[in-house]
Amino acid sequence: MMKVAFIGLGNMGGPMAVNLAKAKQALALELSVFDIVADNMSDAVKQGATAASSALAAIKDADVVISMLPAGQHVHRLYLDEQTGILAKLKASCLVIDCSTIDAETAVLVAERAAQTGIEMVDAPVSGGTAGALAGTLTFICGGTDNGFKRAKPFLEVMGSNIFHAGQAGAGQVAKICNNMLLSILMVGTSEALSLGIDHGLDPKVLSQIMQVSSGGNWTLDKYNPCPDVMPNVPSSNQYQGGFMVDLMVKDLGLSMAAALASNSSTPMGALARSLYTSHARQGHGKLDFSSIFEQFKDKR
Ligand code: NAD
Repeated sequence: MMKVAFIGLGNMGGPMAVNLAKAKQALALELSVFDIVADNMSDAVKQGATAASSALAAIKDADVVISMLPAGQHVHRLYLDEQTGILAKLKASCLVIDCSTIDAETAVLVAERAAQTGIEMVDAPVSGGTAGALAGTLTFICGGTDNGFKRAKPFLEVMGSNIFHAGQAGAGQVAKICNNMLLSILMVGTSEALSLGIDHGLDPKVLSQIMQVSSGGNWTLDKYNPCPDVMPNVPSSNQYQGGFMVDLMVKDLGLSMAAALASNSSTPMGALARSLYTSHARQGHGKLDFSSIFEQFKDKR
């Protein structure tokens, strides 16, 4: 039996751990989970995972550690903290897969420190949202060695349907922030276009159908319409609850801006999207889903 530890069972990690627990027999694994919010572990426990009392307890004898945390500082603390960091406690044959979206520098730093003791680490940020996490159809965008990628793949395949190897350590994170910068631009543009139509008396459902099969068609219209009640089972039809928080999008846009500075790249649309999302968060909407940017374009007079 292989021992797998999963740390960070939030909006994404929760359903991902459930899918891993469901594959317990197929992959011959025991699953131990830990989140600082105990309730977040209950769905995985219902599928046969064991809830641990700490990250350290979860990783005891682990062959594979998977983490899904909010940001770089959480990943840094979990693995490298001088007192509580788990990296120093892992056995040398352990494989670490970090699925959080974080800065490439932290991903590379953890991978390098891990390699010093023979531990292989793969950065494997995801795309596909909470619906993809629930359905097990996420896209994993990996950075790491060929061997690390090969070892990680069977575990990623039970949580996702597209598994890419973008390059060496950190490459998964770079590819991921390119994608999220584009996603934020598409979400703002779609919100703006739908609001213009509504202001001219159009039905947003009909306008969405038209744009979906026209040249403005994009993922947000197909899977994640930001206008309430156009699409069932998306955050916009549930007061923008769940999904992908504005605060996390602001974080990702900060990462893409930092990456642009590092390579002297021109990213004017990304800079504008970061500004719009930051202003939205500063108005108190940080915990809402990122499609709530639609509200910024509503005529509230
Ligand atoms: P979330 O805030 O819902 O989940 C994070 C979880 O980590 C929480 O349950 C929190 O309690 C837990 N946590 C924090 N520190 C911890 C620690 N030290 N030990 C154990 N648990 C700890 O966030 P999320 O939406 O699940 O996103 C997670 C990551 O995935 C982020 O990096 C985000 O950018 C990325 N992401 C999210 C989405 C999405 O649609 N939500 C999509 C793609 C990528």
